[in-house]
Amino acid sequence: MANQEDLFKKIIAHAKEYGFVFQSSEIYDGLSAVYDYGPNGTELKNNIRAYWWKAMVQMHENIVGIDSAIFMHPTIWKASGHVDAFNDPLIDNKDSKKRYRADVLVEDHMAKIEGKINKEVVKARKHFGDAFDEQQFLETNPRVLANKAKLEDIKGRLYPAMDNDDMAAIKQLIEDLEIACPISGSRNWTEVRQFNLMFSTNMGSTAEGATEIFLRPETAQGIFVNYLNVQKTSRMKIPFGIAQTGKAFRNEIVARQFIFRMREFEQMEMQYFVRPGEEIKWYEYWKEQRMKWHVSTGIPAEKFRFHDHDKLAHYANAAADIEFEFPIGFKELEGIHSRTDFDLSAHEKFSGKKLRYHDSELNESYVPYVVETSIGLDRMFLAILSHAYTNEQLEDGSSRVVMKIPSVLAPYKVAVFPLTKKDGLPEKAREIMDGLKEDYMCFYEEKDTIGKRYRRHDAIGTPYCVTVDHQTLEDNTVTIRERDSMKQDRVSIDKIGSIVAEKLKAN
Ligand code: ATP
Repeated sequence: MANQEDLFKKIIAHAKEYGFVFQSSEIYDGLSAVYDYGPNGTELKNNIRAYWWKAMVQMHENIVGIDSAIFMHPTIWKASGHVDAFNDPLIDNKDSKKRYRADVLVEDHMAKIEGKINKEVVKARKHFGDAFDEQQFLETNPRVLANKAKLEDIKGRLYPAMDNDDMAAIKQLIEDLEIACPISGSRNWTEVRQFNLMFSTNMGSTAEGATEIFLRPETAQGIFVNYLNVQKTSRMKIPFGIAQTGKAFRNEIVARQFIFRMREFEQMEMQYFVRPGEEIKWYEYWKEQRMKWHVSTGIPAEKFRFHDHDKLAHYANAAADIEFEFPIGFKELEGIHSRTDFDLSAHEKFSGKKLRYHDSELNESYVPYVVETSIGLDRMFLAILSHAYTNEQLEDGSSRVVMKIPSVLAPYKVAVFPLTKKDGLPEKAREIMDGLKEDYMCFYEEKDTIGKRYRRHDAIGTPYCVTVDHQTLEDNTVTIRERDSMKQDRVSIDKIGSIVAEKLKAN
């Protein structure tokens, strides 16, 4: 665990040192849980967004995009349930003065119990070898059964308490489980209170005429309220989807995990409108599609897992998360939710406008059901960064930090270096750079030794470095070095473009 925390700190330091992510307002000591992206971070973020957009919109003829405003009519948030129910229960430790989400304290406690069960399984597998039957073990081992019973008991108390907004019951649960503050180690807790996560501001020039409006806590509502405009103007037939990427804002209580949990962040969401009764089929379809997308980045499948929700949000009839193994453990990266007709029906009710779709095949009008896929762009960025960060010991005894970012997402695809600053090599290198930069983000560098330049590009994840030397002037060949293998090949200049193109396709 300590190692993983250490790794997380190294990734954060690396992200700053190499221009990926900076603390917002750093010269004023920062603004908590708000971050800025530097030049390399911006490229990586743009590439992740484009990679998602291509998979969702370009590759699906029945999905189109929109870009709705951050400010929306305040009644939208009443209809969606956010004004009344977008709350987290918070609790403070009086000794450390740290604030926590009360439900997360209990869930972390549950994760520890699950960890104990997993340990028993690992121990038993070692002991029994090939004869080990995991299923039978889980169903019969007394220690496992006792822990499972504890989990069921906690769930049986936490979920109803959350559903009924029973803050006293959550407090009692924390006391009964003897949960201590991870910082102070004490159990000196305040009462549990509800806290609404939406930021608000005022629109209008005079104090009397101003209306309180909210900064959107999710992009989805912009899709719901536009769905008929989009359907009609794009002549979409059910099933069809609307995709959107954009900023969302949440006044998070616990915001201590770098860009994992921010107060201003970006979402990439897609709402898929389907016939009532067909939503579970599409929900399963999108679960599978989204997992395929994650694995298509080249990150091994075992770094991801599904977590099906036991406790469903008020709008959902099925929900799962895709979790990623961050250095801080397996955590939610994306949510896939079958949201029923909850949002559209609520908007019908609150706006007084009909939001029905006429299904000409069925000759029927209905409020469509919706399956949503919702991923945090910044969390995906963190997943890519933490998987990419590699500290390698090399055969010659030295070491290097290399960011093994999937090529298609890497900030720069090619770095071009003249071996020296004279003899016409920079001119030749510039010529190569000019030939490539229309198609690829390229970086030109002539300072320092070639070795140092390689290291700098390893550290930002550039898949290829091209070096121009004296032989280049004679036969138009260059050395091309691949980031992960560090293999160097001599190739003719006109091959560089196709080598890079191949790599981007293969990822
Ligand atoms: P969590 O349980 O982590 O608070 P959530 O279940 O509230 O997340 P959703 O409302 O389903 O999250 O939002 C969809 C996605 O948006 C999440 O899977 C996550 O990737 C991203 N996301 C949500 N909140 C934040 C945040 N504060 N900072 C960064 N990304 C976020």
